[in-house]
Amino acid sequence: MMTIVTEVNDWQKIRKTLNTTSLGFVPTMGHLHEGHISLCKRSKLENELTIVSIFVNPTQFNQATDFENYPRTLDDDIEKLSAEKIDYLLLFDSKSLYPDNYEVQVSETEIGKDLEGAYRPGHFTGVLTVVTKLLNLVLPMRAYFGEKDYQQYLLIKKMVSALFMSVEIIACETVRAPDLLALSSRNSRLNASQREKAALFAKGLQSNYSGEELIQQLTSWGFKVDYVAEKWQRRLGAVWLDDIRLIDNIPFGR
Ligand code: AMP
Repeated sequence: MMTIVTEVNDWQKIRKTLNTTSLGFVPTMGHLHEGHISLCKRSKLENELTIVSIFVNPTQFNQATDFENYPRTLDDDIEKLSAEKIDYLLLFDSKSLYPDNYEVQVSETEIGKDLEGAYRPGHFTGVLTVVTKLLNLVLPMRAYFGEKDYQQYLLIKKMVSALFMSVEIIACETVRAPDLLALSSRNSRLNASQREKAALFAKGLQSNYSGEELIQQLTSWGFKVDYVAEKWQRRLGAVWLDDIRLIDNIPFGR
């Protein structure tokens, strides 16, 4: 049976009673898909207990409309997590996670300036702050993050090392649809023709086009390109299809 915990205080009491250190943690924003589930499965394999959180973190959204439009499907998510035999699901609200009113923030000044950080001011500070809070509450031995958000993964790894947090950060490969589009909660906002076009973004990243050629191609296909970059031995990109923003990356040279 999966236990759902909605109060921070209740969770802190439960956490003290857990008599194993083999705890795996998967933080999410919900509207779960096979990408999230792959993280859960890996945690289940490697730990005695697996804890998942669902929290649509307002501080990491740099656009109010993106936060409002973010898909929320809690009943469905609970069903999926129960089917995976997750032990605890944490559903905390903003008030309890931000007793400080977001006056205390965790930020990084180098990796986070570039790419997503440049196009989404404040995004990574929101991410690092909430991940710190969640890691401090859960105190897991291992925490699982997707390579889909590669820059985020690098930042979290760097933060955990810089702040001497005792948790192992584990990266999991990006799960894709058969047409190669990386699974993402935001994909459900795509209409049929946008969804079809979106696959060209993944295919383009995996193609032999140079960065410049790829930007030209994506633009001619109707994407608005924020960036295509080669960094950290990966090719990373962010594009808009109308008002929906997609990000993806692939190991370089593939
Ligand atoms: P989110 O709910 O979007 O905040 O994602 C929660 C976690 O799932 C993050 O570590 C993401 O990187 C990871 N994730 C999201 N999409 C995928 C995917 N397609 N494949 C693997 N991991 C993913």
